Amino acid sequence: MDKETILSWLKEEDPKRLEKLWQEADEVRARCVGDEVHLRGLIEISNYCINRCYYCGINRDIRTLARYRMTEEEIMAVVREIVKRGYGTVVLQSGEDPGIKRTWMSELIRRIKGETPLAVTLSLGERNVGDFAAWRKAGADRYLLKFETSNRYLYRYLHPPRQGEEIDRLILLEELSSLGYEVGSGIMVGLPGQTYEDLYEDLSIFRRLDLDMIGIGPFIPHPKTPLGCHPDWLSRSEVPNTDLMTCKVIALTRLLCPMANIPSTTALATVNPASGRILGLERGANVIMPNFTPIKYRKLYDIYPRPQETAPGGEDPLSIILSLGRRPGKGPGNRRRQIF
Ligand code: SAH
Repeated sequence: MDKETILSWLKEEDPKRLEKLWQEADEVRARCVGDEVHLRGLIEISNYCINRCYYCGINRDIRTLARYRMTEEEIMAVVREIVKRGYGTVVLQSGEDPGIKRTWMSELIRRIKGETPLAVTLSLGERNVGDFAAWRKAGADRYLLKFETSNRYLYRYLHPPRQGEEIDRLILLEELSSLGYEVGSGIMVGLPGQTYEDLYEDLSIFRRLDLDMIGIGPFIPHPKTPLGCHPDWLSRSEVPNTDLMTCKVIALTRLLCPMANIPSTTALATVNPASGRILGLERGANVIMPNFTPIKYRKLYDIYPRPQETAPGGEDPLSIILSLGRRPGKGPGNRRRQIF
């Protein structure tokens, strides 16, 4: 697909013509990764953060937010619940928390790998290569680190460098890959200042990095963040932060990276609670990541405003999967290398 075609799909508004994009994405999804929908149980293990990302509601400048870090025992209890549900993967996510020590995390990973059949995905932000190497050695299978936007100026603005440190997430992704992790990344759609050209670049990077997982969610303003306090910035955005726009990027990602694992994200389900999850799965996605964070912590992992769920795992993912004529994935759900 050439640049003009990609840009014209990104700007397409006609539902009839878009039908063709949805259909193609769904066909490629079925042919290349099949009808299985992989379930990953998400645990948000800490909301401490030393970064100041302008989009994120747990950034270090939000002093009113109570901070938590789950204990090993608390995490293991949730891990056992995820095993009981028959899921193949646990995802451990957090803010950029130096209180998560290398050895503590290594022990936790060893314990999960020793006591359960789960694949372990980490999403703990920007760490040094020593940490990445130790955790890989301890048995971690995958690492998820979104580059958020390929527009360098916008990224630097939204994600101010920590003191004296300019961290390039694209370089970290290459390091993770050479350590043998399955590597995931992704972007937010509809960031203030983001352009269609930027989205085209994002898609090109997905393809160039040959990512194993690609997460795409709409940007959701958080009222306590610099971006959320300036709603007029949003109205000046070229790219809308809508479910439709997000679906277009998901569908194009499936066409350009046919074998990647692509989640139908919680952010997509947040902007369209009635059918966001389903639309993502119908338009290229093949993964869902239900939230298993204990309720008392979940409201504190306040990256963006989201409806409070009451049950672990939230909405019933199994009934969604079956209603689409698909089936829950078996085993860890690694990235496929060959069309089966
Ligand atoms: N500290 C880790 C995990 C952050 S939370 C890291 O930076 O990698 C995981 C993802 O949530 C982020 O990568 C970002 O894409 C998304 N996110 C954060 N704030 C958001 C917002 N306001 N709207 C939509 N997505 C957001």
